[in-house]
Amino acid sequence: MTEPARVGEVLPAVLAEVVDRAGRGYDRWMELVAQAGYCHHPIRLAGRVDQADRTTGEVRQAYTTEGEPDGVLLKACGTRWESRCPSCAATYRADAYQLLAAGLKGGKGVPDTVAEHSRLFVTFTAPSFGKVHSRKAQGRLVLPCHPYRQGARCPHGRRAGCWHRHEEDDSRLGEPLCPSCYDSEAQVLWNALAPELWRRTTIALQRALGRLVGLGEAELRRLVRISYAKVAEFQRRGAVHFHAVLRLDAATECRCPGCLALPPAPFTAAVLEEALRLAVPAVRVPCPPVDGGPERYARWGEQLDVHNITAGDDQAGELSAEQVAGYIAKYATKATESFGAGLDRRLDDDDLERLADHLPVHVAELVRAAWELGGRPELEGLRLRAWAHMLGFRGHWSTKSRRYSTTFTVLRRARVAFAKRRRAKDGVPLDAWGRPEDDDQVVIVASWVYVGAGYETEGERWLALSAAARAREQRRIAWEELRTTAA
Ligand SMILES: [Zn+2]
Ligand SMILES: [Zn+2]
Ligand SMILES: [Zn+2]
Repeated sequence: MTEPARVGEVLPAVLAEVVDRAGRGYDRWMELVAQAGYCHHPIRLAGRVDQADRTTGEVRQAYTTEGEPDGVLLKACGTRWESRCPSCAATYRADAYQLLAAGLKGGKGVPDTVAEHSRLFVTFTAPSFGKVHSRKAQGRLVLPCHPYRQGARCPHGRRAGCWHRHEEDDSRLGEPLCPSCYDSEAQVLWNALAPELWRRTTIALQRALGRLVGLGEAELRRLVRISYAKVAEFQRRGAVHFHAVLRLDAATECRCPGCLALPPAPFTAAVLEEALRLAVPAVRVPCPPVDGGPERYARWGEQLDVHNITAGDDQAGELSAEQVAGYIAKYATKATESFGAGLDRRLDDDDLERLADHLPVHVAELVRAAWELGGRPELEGLRLRAWAHMLGFRGHWSTKSRRYSTTFTVLRRARVAFAKRRRAKDGVPLDAWGRPEDDDQVVIVASWVYVGAGYETEGERWLALSAAARAREQRRIAWEELRTTAA
């Protein structure tokens, strides 16, 4: 893969390609780039779309790439990773925000009354695997990292603490005080078991809620449902944690997003929080013993951050729906890539050597631990080598319960339909007969051939990326405005 051409700095050979593109159907080509959302690595497709009239059986061509620049159509790569394609990641982030916000304040088919349901914003953390440099602040006052007795040493002869008051951008943050004292293996295993820990937590939470209101599981399920949406985030030390919105709904048979009703009276946010505080410390997942060692369990860390989500004005310790949606959407496109280049895809043996030179020491050690553990037959089920680039975590980055709000697919379809209406004359897309498009009237038959991935020349790529940067800047401004006017 080639490095992205830096915008503002064009090599003569690339300049010739830019000039060439500018001279051949440039406007239409740029339209296609825009249609593909300014994707950095679009797929190039050739083909046609035919429409068949259901009544008469007549077939007409509705679209062909034959007349397009270079005879291709561009299709967005659709990744959600910032490091792979900032344009597609921005689209994903916007969708994540919409999806989250709809479940908190309504919209996208969800009734506004959802704002009256009991909702909590909860951060589930990993336990400690050893002391790491950390920034501790109380308001403006920054506290020492790990106070310790003068002269105290760890078993490896290193200082037993750290008196430093770390700045926010200190590169040591997240690094262990002593790499030998730090249990990297346990952390990798924890990351691998975190999705199962979450699953068990949702079950334990139901049970705890039932106990608090004096109902059995089946009775409870007839009355109330816990809906959620969550994202995973890597802490600096390389442990995954989850940010989740939990919401109580009345149990309903109907599955449409519009059929959400307030939970019955006893199911307040306070009861939900009490159930959480009962359930979370007790949940555990057994970890297969390594090397005949003792059986270990993955559990949550002691820190459980719970905020009530308010419907209206902020109160101390409470968050608004917009704050929560914005906060969660921010994490939806970030992964291990923030630790350094090379962790945005699966690894092989050769990568391992190479990565050690590029990654922070601690992160490289976690990758190595995942690779090492992944070679053990007793841990085969955790597929640690396949997920070494994710430090063992193989869960989904954002998940939600079925009834939380709308879906990414629905949002994507709506966006496509909207773009189609905007492109159509008078806002009405027409079929091959010039009639307003109607799925009941015509059958669409599309046939595509894959031509290639990415832009054809470095010059085209440069042009597209320049336009992408401009579009992103406009989007960023719109996004900031959306959040500040909403907040
Ligand atoms: Zn893309
Ligand atoms: Zn420190
Ligand atoms: Zn030590």
